[in-house]
Amino acid sequence: MSKPPLPARNLKPATIAVHEGTLRSQFGETAEAMFLTQGYVYDSMEQAEARFTGADPGFQYSRFSNPTVDMFERRMAALEGAEAARATATGMAAVTASMLSFVSAGEHIVAAKALFGSCRYIVEDLAPRFGITSTLVDGCNLDAWQKAVQPNTRAFFLETPTNPTLDILDITAIAEIAHAAGAKLIVDNVFATPIFQKPLALGADVVCYSATKHIDGQGRTLGGIVLGSEEYVTGPLQMFLRQTGPSLSPFNAWVMLKSLETLALRVERQAATAARVADFLGDHPKVQRVIYPFRDDHPQVALARRQMTAGSTLVTFDVKGGKEEAFRFGGALGIVKITNNLGDAKTLITHPATTTHQRLSADARAELGISDAMLRLSLGLEDADDLIEDLSIALDAI
Ligand SMILES: *Cc1c(COP(=O)(O)O)cnc(C)c1O
Repeated sequence: MSKPPLPARNLKPATIAVHEGTLRSQFGETAEAMFLTQGYVYDSMEQAEARFTGADPGFQYSRFSNPTVDMFERRMAALEGAEAARATATGMAAVTASMLSFVSAGEHIVAAKALFGSCRYIVEDLAPRFGITSTLVDGCNLDAWQKAVQPNTRAFFLETPTNPTLDILDITAIAEIAHAAGAKLIVDNVFATPIFQKPLALGADVVCYSATKHIDGQGRTLGGIVLGSEEYVTGPLQMFLRQTGPSLSPFNAWVMLKSLETLALRVERQAATAARVADFLGDHPKVQRVIYPFRDDHPQVALARRQMTAGSTLVTFDVKGGKEEAFRFGGALGIVKITNNLGDAKTLITHPATTTHQRLSADARAELGISDAMLRLSLGLEDADDLIEDLSIALDAI
């Protein structure tokens, strides 16, 4: 395997996403090869020994590393501006490993309350079972982060924009509080995508993704990735992943690699459609309110514009009324599909109160601003006029 040379210039994300990390075999294939192999054979006992001591840097076993997975990790690291990355079987494996790889019993995590449901479970329920305490805070309130700090605080965890209310958390300010406390800031960057927000450049220490979302982008494979410093990734993270085994399949890594080639193209188009749809919904008499980070009526629009280069591919809105009206609207959609997923080529709609956030009490939902009339729309790659017509017909059906 060899690494085809790239010009030593500052390449832009769309170029990186097509070329970086490519390894080419002796056959000179144009497209990245898929190495569906569990293991690797050695020329000699001596070479096997050298692989295990680390003196020879080749591959040993696909639970630890694999050429196709390696290409995906290198391409993602280049895109994110991270020193190193490790891929995982799912986004949840990435989030879990990002914390449990270096936080121990007796230590403490602070996280924003508004988290993807399973991430909240890790922080609120799983970590405490192993002696890691946690505090959940209102992520938009910087004082709350500061007040939650304890002498044993080891990690801060947040997502921004948040699911489903699209709140914007100030990564730079929260990173400063974390660092003053001697803690690492981990950012789940799924909603922003690697194209629209660069948490490491804003001061975060670790970034994780569910690659299941925009990175695959076509609803096929599950995957995840954790990115950060060489020291963190090749130290505690690599040890945790290697020994516990949530490895990404080389097949899925290959799908993700090919998807990265179109990531910038896809999310830029999806965000442009999202902005248009947000304005359509904002003007509609059957809509109570619309939430879109780049709209002037978003409470943190200035921060969103500072921190992100587009307002995301999602739009959240409340129809006038409650659950009944939201369900009637959903039932009248033709092109837009009802599901709990996001970041697909197909436009998807979710009713958070009865699906993704059903596990929370009504009070906890109210505290997060999730009403029974709320819908989360993930914009796909269909024609924007067709989508607006579909939404318009369904709004008229309420
Ligand atoms: C989907 C998602 C996850 C979990 O990813 P999986 O690939 O489903 O395991 C974590 N965080 C956010 C913000 C997500 O949207």
